[in-house]
Amino acid sequence: MCRTPQDVLEFAKEQKVEFVDLKFMDLPGLWQHFTVPISHLTEEAFTEGFGFDGSSIRGFKSIHESDMILIPDATTAVLDPFCQVPTLSLICNVFDPTTGKNYERDPRYIAQKAEAYLKATGIADVSYWGPEAEFFILDEVRFDQNQRCGYYFVDSAEGFWNAGREENPNLGYKVRYKEGYFPVPPTDTFQDIRTEMVQIMQRCGINVECHHHEVATAGQAEIDMRFAPLTRMADQLLMFKYIVKNVARKHGKTATFMPKPIFQDNGSGMHVHQSLWKNGRPLFYDENGYAQLSELALYYIGGLIKHGPALAALCSPTTNSYKRLVPGFEAPVYLAYSQRNRSAAVRIPMYSSSPKAKRIEYRPPDPSCNPYLAFAALLLAGIDGIKNKIHPGEPLETDIYELSPAEIGSIPALPGSLEEALKALEADHAFLLEGGVFTEDLIQAWINYKRANEVDAIRLRPHPYEFALYFDI
Ligand code: GLN
Ligand code: MG
Ligand code: MG
Ligand code: MG
Repeated sequence: MCRTPQDVLEFAKEQKVEFVDLKFMDLPGLWQHFTVPISHLTEEAFTEGFGFDGSSIRGFKSIHESDMILIPDATTAVLDPFCQVPTLSLICNVFDPTTGKNYERDPRYIAQKAEAYLKATGIADVSYWGPEAEFFILDEVRFDQNQRCGYYFVDSAEGFWNAGREENPNLGYKVRYKEGYFPVPPTDTFQDIRTEMVQIMQRCGINVECHHHEVATAGQAEIDMRFAPLTRMADQLLMFKYIVKNVARKHGKTATFMPKPIFQDNGSGMHVHQSLWKNGRPLFYDENGYAQLSELALYYIGGLIKHGPALAALCSPTTNSYKRLVPGFEAPVYLAYSQRNRSAAVRIPMYSSSPKAKRIEYRPPDPSCNPYLAFAALLLAGIDGIKNKIHPGEPLETDIYELSPAEIGSIPALPGSLEEALKALEADHAFLLEGGVFTEDLIQAWINYKRANEVDAIRLRPHPYEFALYFDI
């Protein structure tokens, strides 16, 4: 791994690199990039940066104040796995040339500030993050361009429902409804594609724990990375998505991290495992605690539950996210915690009794989030819980879906829509401003962006299913 600009320059020489691809994050959470010849990459470039026009980047500045600078992070250097000409890939921070400082809306900067804030509180010196990003590998997507409501149709030859559609002759071995998790091939048709994704991830310095087919009938997959510190993990997740999408494309398929592409089948979540450490020691473990959790871990959970509705605006940040957060598909609906119950928002994995493995799993997030903002917000909610000793109450051991309406009524629920989540964030975001990690400007920009471009965009369009319901009214 490269550490310094000199390391990067040496690595580039060794690998006969001809171009440098500079990548950075927009506000909603998509990588953006531009490419420069290798001759432009000097030691000074790591402090002086590369200028670009930030005016059309989603969620960034307006046109009259649009000159921006990218400062590459030497520790992110890898060979881009998909460029045909040897190209070095560098993840960058965005700087504002008028102030010479970090741009306040750069999501990666928020993540870095969150890590620094954790240290400054003295609570811990590092947080570890393990997202389980799920996704679909599909055969095709059809946008209906003529209907201005722009709906789409997705399909995969793998599902039982689609038997015979794409495969000729139809040899059976179809994934039965909700039984994708996880029979061996020939039922699982994506073994080699997932393996190829993992090989490329490993070449890019990402440690992978395992890959498997997921529950949904058609083409759902999961690849789990080994835990890493916050910013590093958010960087890796972007590389992860880049690899998944590009390997699928290479095979004439398409991959989507959209949380709920298929009606009545499991959606794609991104459960986030998290733990705090200090002086090389895990802080979430106590052999006598509930589920071997320390009091500090319970308070961390208390913070996540208390701020759960506001966190949803950053962790489940699309209108489609709320089509996943419904009963019956292993996605959480209620803000409770539990040792084994997968219907609760916070689960305490019990695979290992090792103090080092002690962590909590927060299940509401999905891979449509901007991981820099989502991880930072989760950490701040946890810190708030610890600082203010917010106890999460009693754990919930029964399946929430089996409780009576009265019992359910007392459990706080996740928001039912993006608009509800944005309202919750509007009302509850002081915990995010602590230590100057998030700024009021960024929160307002997020809320405005999401309302105008997503909530309203969906609200104003006639939905295809409205034709089925109302056309003959
Ligand atoms: N797909 C489920 C979700 O939406 C999770 C399934 C699982 O990993 N057990 O969260
Ligand atoms: Mg998993
Ligand atoms: Mg899973
Ligand atoms: Mg999980």
